[in-house]
Amino acid sequence: MTTTDAETWTGQRLKDTDKEYVIHSWSVQGALDPIPVAGGSGSWFWDYDGRRYLDFQSQLVNLNLGHQHPRLVEAIRAQAEQLCYIGPGFAERSRAELAEMMAALTPGDLKMSFFTTGGAAANENAVRLARHVTGRQKVIARYRSYHGATAGAMSLTGDPRRWAAEPGMAGVVRMLDPYTYRCPAGHPDPCPVCSGGPHLEEILQYENPETVAAVIVEPVTGTNGLLYPPEGYLRSLREVCDRHGILLIFDEVMAGFGRTGEWFACDHWNVVPDILTTAKGLNSGYVPLGAMTVSARISDWLRDHMFWGGLTYAGHPLACASGVASLRIMQDEDVVPHARAMGERLGAGLTALADRHPSIGDIRGRGLFYGVELVRDRDTREPLVPFNAKGPAAAPVGRLLKAAMARGLYLTANFNVLRLTPPLVITAEEIDLALGILDEVLCLADEHY
Ligand code: PLP
Repeated sequence: MTTTDAETWTGQRLKDTDKEYVIHSWSVQGALDPIPVAGGSGSWFWDYDGRRYLDFQSQLVNLNLGHQHPRLVEAIRAQAEQLCYIGPGFAERSRAELAEMMAALTPGDLKMSFFTTGGAAANENAVRLARHVTGRQKVIARYRSYHGATAGAMSLTGDPRRWAAEPGMAGVVRMLDPYTYRCPAGHPDPCPVCSGGPHLEEILQYENPETVAAVIVEPVTGTNGLLYPPEGYLRSLREVCDRHGILLIFDEVMAGFGRTGEWFACDHWNVVPDILTTAKGLNSGYVPLGAMTVSARISDWLRDHMFWGGLTYAGHPLACASGVASLRIMQDEDVVPHARAMGERLGAGLTALADRHPSIGDIRGRGLFYGVELVRDRDTREPLVPFNAKGPAAAPVGRLLKAAMARGLYLTANFNVLRLTPPLVITAEEIDLALGILDEVLCLADEHY
């Protein structure tokens, strides 16, 4: 027996070791009390005492096929037995097969893929490539965005996680978001911000369009509040970009692969980017993986221009094999239509909850990508906790999340917006169970009304 044998790891020992040696993301380490997790299956995970939690987050919105899907685990095992690693300069089967599948599944003429270790690296490469292809430097990104935690991706990110990394990458210009519930322009009719193109055109007047390489947006904003663009918004950005020779990058790291009830979020509006970045649902997060997929025009450009990018683990065979298996499972098990149907059930259930809970100000969602915005007053829309709230100011939402966890429902929130993003394989009974727990814990939010 070695000290790493599973039976010597009690929950307490795991907690103590973790607290002593592991640095957790975006946290004050001493304030943490992580649950020691022993295992998972489907939409559930459990701790060392056998307490089970319904994972209504899909962890970081990546476990789209749920925990421990047997076919996915088996595909990784089979690849590990055949070839664990070969450098990115070689032709390797799972890598080529995944790239071919991506060309078939992604919209429009998106064709060649560069595989990375996650979403941030995909965005880093997308922006650098856009700069090389256009010969321009500036990139326009939005405020309510998250594009990753590496240096460049953090500079593209608009939310407060960027602050500690400033000044960051040069040449990033920001635009406002089509947050229709709280329109930053006060929603004049027609609204230049919520319709997209007019706001972008105005920014370009001051920035000089001939210096702008790319516009990068999440077609549906994920961590920053689950924001769905109004009809026509993405098309309007597309038109402005085309008019000025600017490349349009869609970051679908969170929203891609069935999350919104279509294979890709941009499919809802039939708008095709020049570069699509993905990760998370690409392989359900079983092995680190991301991708940058580029249009036929950029693919042609790459035939006789250098691609200035590389990672030791670009196109890692274990990751790509899990990607191939994940996409096949999604096709064989009709995961996207299932997500759409479960999303309708979730949406209907949330609408019913809004009749009983005045703290529900807005419900936004399609597929299994829902946000519930909590308010102190429906008329004034005063948020239950303010933007960027910390400590006691954030407590009303913190208490609600804790109460849900105590009832076995794992949820998170972005300030006052609850994020409901269960695995795409969730069942109707599990959706109903979560709605029942939400019904109980939303009373805590109503108290502030
Ligand atoms: N882009 C979006 C939209 C994301 O939601 C995330 C992560 O949550 C990223 C990029 C960064 O991905 P990663 O953490 O894999 O680098």
